[in-house]
Amino acid sequence: MKTQVIEINENNIDAQAQAGLQKAGDILKNGGLVAFPTETVYGLGGDALNPESSKKIYAAKGRPSDNPLIVHIYRTEDLVPITRGVPQAAYDLAEAFWPGPLTMIMNKSDLVPYETTGGMDTVAIRMPSNRIAAALIRTGGGFIAAPSANTSGRPSPTLAQYCIEDLDGKVDMIIDGGQVGIGLESTIVDLTVDVPMILRPGYITLEMLQKVLGNVEVDRTIIDGNSKLKPKAPGMKYRHYAPKGDLTIVEGTQEHVTQYINRMAAEKMAEGEKVGIISTDATYGDYKADVVRSAGKREDEETIARELFHILREFDDEQVTVMYSESFDDKGIGQAIMNRLLKAAGHHVEHV
Ligand code: AMP
Ligand code: MG
Repeated sequence: MKTQVIEINENNIDAQAQAGLQKAGDILKNGGLVAFPTETVYGLGGDALNPESSKKIYAAKGRPSDNPLIVHIYRTEDLVPITRGVPQAAYDLAEAFWPGPLTMIMNKSDLVPYETTGGMDTVAIRMPSNRIAAALIRTGGGFIAAPSANTSGRPSPTLAQYCIEDLDGKVDMIIDGGQVGIGLESTIVDLTVDVPMILRPGYITLEMLQKVLGNVEVDRTIIDGNSKLKPKAPGMKYRHYAPKGDLTIVEGTQEHVTQYINRMAAEKMAEGEKVGIISTDATYGDYKADVVRSAGKREDEETIARELFHILREFDDEQVTVMYSESFDDKGIGQAIMNRLLKAAGHHVEHV
């Protein structure tokens, strides 16, 4: 298959861009696949109500078929046909956070095929704020299944270039809308249980959800890496977000962390490994390794979130074999950052 790549500027959707979005929408309506930017990461879109489209998504990503897809909509009223009753909590959260990086789980209606929900009776739904995404969902028929547009197991794409790396020749079209704004996947909250539960942390934090809903719980497996429990979001059990090399997170005082990482880096380089380090602006100059990257200022969680997958992809491109990362505060968005980093590291943490 030849993959067409088109460029659209989210801030200037002119006549040419609209024609491109129309064409992309037609591809979706006809059962094809289109990768497109959202405010979180790039998504790989297909018609969520067409079982054949969902099967194609799993095949293109190499995604296990028990890992359900998120259905993307462009207006709140479209919750009605795809669910069995919309809980008031969903309307309250939609009012507060949609369009935006929040996914809600509800009971599905018969309109949504099991191919899309990985066999589950529930469906995950999100309304993205990116204008390219919203327009494409509309031209594509209103219900677009779109997991992250990466090969299963690789870091989620924050640039079109990474979608091209993973999906060229496997999808009909890739829309290049530049670098995404958030850089981490959406927060997932389950509304089918008595007390709403966060199944995947993201940019919308526990504190933000509690302000709207009152009581909110967090799936234990997000916090406890050694938990024997099964995560409630099937996708969270896989070793997601994984770079190709071995990543270790190092925790401790700044001085101990830099000393430890430099010592390990020197040892590994002497053994012939190519070493990459994830630092912060304050420590960037203190490290010696083949590739040193700063994720930004330690206090600036939004930048760290946006840079994280990008740096892991860069390490892959540079063929780094061993990586060390500083640890980050796990409050607010930090909970999502540490969740992804811990998964990327296979929960390998050194306390120094
Ligand atoms: P991705 O689109 O690649 O960010 O992955 C979607 C995530 O949503 C995966 O972790 C899925 O397991 C999770 N998910 C989707 N639908 C459901 C559902 N009905 N119940 C629980 N988790 C879900
Ligand atoms: Mg994904």
